[in-house]
Amino acid sequence: MAIKTIIEPFKIKAVEPIRVTTRAEREARIREASYNVFLLHARDVLIDLLTDSGTGAMSVDQWAAVMQGDESYAGSRSFYRFEESVKRLFPFKHVIPAHQGRAAERILFAVTCKPGDIVPNNTHFDTTRANIEYRGAKAVDLPCRESHDTATPHPFKGNMDVEALENLLEHEGADKVPLVMLTVTNNSGGGQPVSMANGLAVAEVCRRHGVPLYIDACRFAENAYFIKHREREFAEMSVADIARELMSHADGCTMSAKKDGLANIGGFLATNDDDLARQEKELLILTEGYPTYGGLAGRDLEAIAVGLEEVVQEDYLQYRIVSTGYLGRHISGEGVPIVQPPGGHAIYIDAGAFLPHLHPLEYPGIALAVELYREAGIRAVEIGSVMFAQRDPETGEEQPAEKELVRLAIPRRVYTQSHIDYVVEGILEVWKRREQIGGYRIVYQAPFLRHFTARFEPLGARA
Ligand SMILES: *Cc1c(COP(=O)(O)O)cnc(C)c1O
Repeated sequence: MAIKTIIEPFKIKAVEPIRVTTRAEREARIREASYNVFLLHARDVLIDLLTDSGTGAMSVDQWAAVMQGDESYAGSRSFYRFEESVKRLFPFKHVIPAHQGRAAERILFAVTCKPGDIVPNNTHFDTTRANIEYRGAKAVDLPCRESHDTATPHPFKGNMDVEALENLLEHEGADKVPLVMLTVTNNSGGGQPVSMANGLAVAEVCRRHGVPLYIDACRFAENAYFIKHREREFAEMSVADIARELMSHADGCTMSAKKDGLANIGGFLATNDDDLARQEKELLILTEGYPTYGGLAGRDLEAIAVGLEEVVQEDYLQYRIVSTGYLGRHISGEGVPIVQPPGGHAIYIDAGAFLPHLHPLEYPGIALAVELYREAGIRAVEIGSVMFAQRDPETGEEQPAEKELVRLAIPRRVYTQSHIDYVVEGILEVWKRREQIGGYRIVYQAPFLRHFTARFEPLGARA
């Protein structure tokens, strides 16, 4: 009989110690951080599931490539190696490096968006939304209907509602929509994949209305792996071919190499439009750097070039998706409400259902993230009303987000199964005493992207 255990397809060559803290220490640290886990020092965190962005472990081949970085200002060898590696998966005419995803977004929206425009997406990531709103345009989420119910599994809950897109383009007029974005996988929507069928349907609507389609490609490889395993026609196709196929229906993409680039920094913007590419490069020179490095060192471009080759390897992706599912299965098996099915890079706990006695504006996601840190030194992030609440334009009142989630993002190639077993145990300890957990109020907030710097106070505590 064949062995069924799926193992980490790597061995460890360098180790980084992590520090166990006492509960009393954690109490003090989280209070000093005003109950915002972004304000904790990483040295006080035991298992850091804040994000899978830039937190992955690089391979021996990536580190070897780092030594080959060509740091020439213009026309560096590393740029051409990077460009070739990108174009193998993203068949766009122009590839523009940027220091990370949001830099690519800022440049894209600066040249395409004007005040009053509308940019639809399956679900905008927070920096994408902020960059659109910063231009005075409106970011509209059009997630598919199945995504609204967190508890019911569906193979492609990340899909866009194609009918809603069609309606929007007809009612608002395509001239108000400079581009449509499709985020794969749908990060803010629970790390859920988008099917090829949905991608093609969105591309068809865009083409018919003469609106360009851009892919937010941060997790393109994880998305392609889900397509291979959930969409029958693609079962025999390689992940790399599936990824290329999806991209071939788009006009461009934005990418954070800190996700499926398997690098610690970097990103790019790609487009088929010559005129846009020229404007984008001009803007890039103003704020990021010359178009053959875009704010990155030659060694970073090398690391990304190799990372893009490794991320589409199927034993890596199998381990990645299976280990994320392992965490999801072990907590949901004990009753913890999570977004079903588990996504590619993260498990999303439904904090609203975990703490049903808290009102959304008592921030159940913050309450749960604080308890995970108190209990076990685990750092997770709220994806709920602190991140996504909207203000009523008339009354100025805060409108809760649609969902109150807490994301446990799994860094790539970093933690072993026993780390994850520890996380499972920590979450279940909090689950047992959930009825005693109280809410929070905001005592300081910035005008945009407030979740990064907001300060909180437990409700009931004196002001
Ligand atoms: C991370 C991310 C971004 C932004 O990328 P950064 O490298 O963090 O600036 C954009 N979209 C999605 C879906 C992301 O996950």
